[in-house]
Amino acid sequence: MSKPRIAIFDFACCEGCQLQIVNLEEELLDLIGAVDVVEWREAMSEQSHEYDIAIVEGSITRPEDEDRVEIIRSRAKILIALGACATIGGVNKLKNNFDLDDVKECVYGDDAKMPHLDTAMTKAVDEVVEVDYKVHGCPIDRKEFTYIVRCLLLGKKPEIPEWPVCVECKAKGNPCLWEYGQVCLGPIIRAGCGARCPSSGFRCFGCRGYVDEPNVNAAKDVIEKYGLSIEDLKGKMILFGSTQGPTNE
Ligand code: SF4
Ligand code: SF4
Ligand code: SF4
Repeated sequence: MSKPRIAIFDFACCEGCQLQIVNLEEELLDLIGAVDVVEWREAMSEQSHEYDIAIVEGSITRPEDEDRVEIIRSRAKILIALGACATIGGVNKLKNNFDLDDVKECVYGDDAKMPHLDTAMTKAVDEVVEVDYKVHGCPIDRKEFTYIVRCLLLGKKPEIPEWPVCVECKAKGNPCLWEYGQVCLGPIIRAGCGARCPSSGFRCFGCRGYVDEPNVNAAKDVIEKYGLSIEDLKGKMILFGSTQGPTNE
């Protein structure tokens, strides 16, 4: 049986999630033994138009990016969005809160009108094409990435946590950071990172995006207890691009 062909592509991003894959080291060698990597700009010079699984890192920020990701989608049987830039727009979506001409001038100064620096509103990959699986986080969790890829190789559907970060945080016995005046997004953000930030004393910033069907009423109770509103939480979500609220408000 032939090995599945995998191609890895990047759009607007820092490439930190690809770096996480490279950092898998020995486990990466195991994975590479089970697949045929046909394109990966960060690690090899070969290119191919024929692949079964496309892994897309980065957000879509220009019209030509939309054309490119549509072509990738048309060639792939399975498309995986890799990291917050791809899954929710990530930090690149910050610019959507400002006038784009102002953003360009702020970044590029006198060069802002040069055609190759043109830009558009940032989109997550699934705002342009259908995405089959998402590897959440900024950066991704290496274990979760290998778990998802291994499931696909075995023909199994990966199970991505559908509960909030608070569940993992409580299981670890962490004191709640709300008690210390931090507006932690744990109640509305998808778990899977092992509550990495609250476990180190930092609030959850929301890099894994909203959990499906958050228990908004329970979250509201907690938020109100501390004299805030769900709008205050949404305001904190701007950093990672989830400017729309939880779905079951
Ligand atoms: S999600 Fe974070 S680490 Fe990954 S490419 Fe985007 S900015 Fe970099
Ligand atoms: S709000 Fe934050 S600190 Fe509090 S339990 Fe949830 S994840 Fe932990
Ligand atoms: S705690 Fe929140 S910000 Fe930190 S890694 Fe997990 S989801 Fe991302």
